[in-house]
Amino acid sequence: MLKLFNSLTRKIEEFKPISPPQVGMYTCGPTVYDFAHIGNFRTYITADILHRTLLHNRYKVKFVMNITDVGHLTGDNVGDADTGEDRMEKSAKKQGKSAWDIAKFYTDAFLKDYRQLNLLAPSVLCRATDHIKEQIVFVQELEKKGFTYKTSDGIYFDTSKFPDYGKLSNLDDIQEGARVEANPEKKNLRDFALWKFTYPNGRSFNSAQDDNASRRQMEWESPWGIGFPGWHIECSAMSVKYLGDNFDIHAGGMDLASTHHPNEIAQTEAITGRQFVKHWMHAAFILVDGKRMSKSMGNNYTLSDLTEKGFDPAALRYLYLQTHYRKELNFTFDALEASQNALTKLKEEIATFKKPRIGCAEYEERFLEAINDDLNMPQALAVLWELIKSDYPTGAKAESVARMDEVFGLNLFEVAHTVEIPETVQKLIQEREQLRREKRFHLADGLRHKIRKMGFDLRDENKKTIVSRLLPSDK
Ligand code: AMP
Ligand code: ZN
Repeated sequence: MLKLFNSLTRKIEEFKPISPPQVGMYTCGPTVYDFAHIGNFRTYITADILHRTLLHNRYKVKFVMNITDVGHLTGDNVGDADTGEDRMEKSAKKQGKSAWDIAKFYTDAFLKDYRQLNLLAPSVLCRATDHIKEQIVFVQELEKKGFTYKTSDGIYFDTSKFPDYGKLSNLDDIQEGARVEANPEKKNLRDFALWKFTYPNGRSFNSAQDDNASRRQMEWESPWGIGFPGWHIECSAMSVKYLGDNFDIHAGGMDLASTHHPNEIAQTEAITGRQFVKHWMHAAFILVDGKRMSKSMGNNYTLSDLTEKGFDPAALRYLYLQTHYRKELNFTFDALEASQNALTKLKEEIATFKKPRIGCAEYEERFLEAINDDLNMPQALAVLWELIKSDYPTGAKAESVARMDEVFGLNLFEVAHTVEIPETVQKLIQEREQLRREKRFHLADGLRHKIRKMGFDLRDENKKTIVSRLLPSDK
């Protein structure tokens, strides 16, 4: 029985899908104005572990993730998100590219990292800009039901008309923690934009009074005038389109529980009159020196920052698995290096196993218990290590490890592929092996030293040479 913490009820609950064995799951994806950082990826790794755990429990998962490529303003995720500049347009100006090129470039970069981290592909990956029509229809529905009002800069949702507003939120008041002043035209502090105007009241560009530089690259006609969708509406419109208006799981980072997700709930349930999502899941933040990792703080690392230093993307996965997803985790390179070393050790051990056969039911049961206990991955890792160290025959261990790795996603059987060895180094390794066979150990050691200087470490185990990439502190 799978048990999960539900942020909506603030309790650990038994997970019961609406129409088993189908499970509908949605995760708020990246805003593609810059590279995603490894903090963002904690949220996606958490969603991936949940996805894999559901599959392990034999559910059929339809997993939808969006790409936010318009409408996410520089405002504040925990404060007034409806003020400031569109992150996409801002990045386009800064880099002298079109907003569309920025969206394409950072979407591709995100997906590259996503694959490198071995995250299961979504069944549907949907872009906000491909769903403008659906978002307009959504706002029209809200308008018909009397939930909207107009200000000079857009169409807003009136939260006072939705008595249940904020039941998910971890903020009592929007001002708490906010960096920006709220818009004085809003009727209530927590009202939010559904559609924003490019120019006041939705009028068009006027060459006599408007500066060309003020023109938006991403804007659309709507029943209210030229503009673009508010940040929250895309997730409601797209999740309802692909998963229906009542589905199982919605995931995201902890900051989204304050404003973005309560807004998704309000605008969707205002239309349907019934529960939007049964189960809400939020991953806690990755911190650096005790402060949240974020682009605005400038304390963020990307996956390439790690791989350029010689780390394997799976080491980051391993590091994140060691802490429960509802606990904050302070990122350090020392911890990453320890994870890399543990992973290498694990893989080397597994590489010596015989062909998989049968499996160890006892350990597989304990593993299932751990993952089904609100994704207790630290415990699941402990079970894995215990199994590795147990007296079971290695063929049985191999079978169970393979099953567990379907959830860990660490590619534990891929020892050889984790280290890409340049041809020059490969040749030196072969020469060294030959020298060792000829018992010319002194010369062999010389080569080993040379290879080390090229960034690779060699160890001799069971008549095999094990190659690993040196980490920065080893050099
Ligand atoms: P964004 O690209 O800013 O829309 O964020 C993408 C996802 O990453 C959202 O679900 C955020 O809540 C999440 N996120 C942002 N910063 C962090 C962090 N430091 N740790 C964990 N998740 C984060
Ligand atoms: Zn969202």
